[in-house]
Amino acid sequence: MDETTFSQQRHWLVDRELRNRGIRDERVLEAMKSVPREKFVTEDLKDRAYENRPLPIASEQTISQPLIVAIMTEALELTPAARVLEIGTGSGYAAAVLAEIAQEVFTIERHPGLAESSASLLSELGYRNVHVKQGDGTLGWPEESPFDGIVVTAAGPKIPATLKSQLKIGGRLVIPVGESGDQNLVRTTRHGPEEYETEDLGPVRFVPLIGEEGW
Ligand code: SAM
Repeated sequence: MDETTFSQQRHWLVDRELRNRGIRDERVLEAMKSVPREKFVTEDLKDRAYENRPLPIASEQTISQPLIVAIMTEALELTPAARVLEIGTGSGYAAAVLAEIAQEVFTIERHPGLAESSASLLSELGYRNVHVKQGDGTLGWPEESPFDGIVVTAAGPKIPATLKSQLKIGGRLVIPVGESGDQNLVRTTRHGPEEYETEDLGPVRFVPLIGEEGW
């Protein structure tokens, strides 16, 4: 498949699967029209890059379903000046989508191989505002905190207290919570130093968040 075909499929996915299923934030839709998802999957899966599904990547992990990436990104309500933290870099795809919208993206991946491959791909694609680090993301990135938005792309047993504490006042944390087969996407907004509001955004399915404040 050539670049034009991928681009057509990308536009089709955004209009048919994202806009029609309730994604309203034009900046999220535009970002997803720009990021070439086919570059974030293995050679044998490129022709399936624009199916609205998660796909396998290295280290037995997954690149998330495009609709879920859009829902999570929209829920962060980012401004162009935002500084965002992502936990679970995986392929680097969601980090690229965030980087199209926010000013600075910090992303942490526990698998060294994935951290390395996504960092080099993001740099190759020209994303100068993404910083990738290998480690346990449940502990956040204290040196770069506080953040306007934090998004966790793996499901934990609870909302990590450390991540909540790294939010700016007014900032939002979006994370799947629960055991395999019974997870919900939740959004926590920090209203004050010790004041948080949590909303349920519906059922989801994610790989487990492994770490000190994860499983
Ligand atoms: N955002 C990714 C993308 O666009 O490809 C999808 C990532 S996948 C669903 C979840 C990722 O979270 C996996 O790569 C997994 O290794 C990683 N992960 C799990 N626990 C983690 C932790 N404590 N810190 C950092 N990454 C973690």
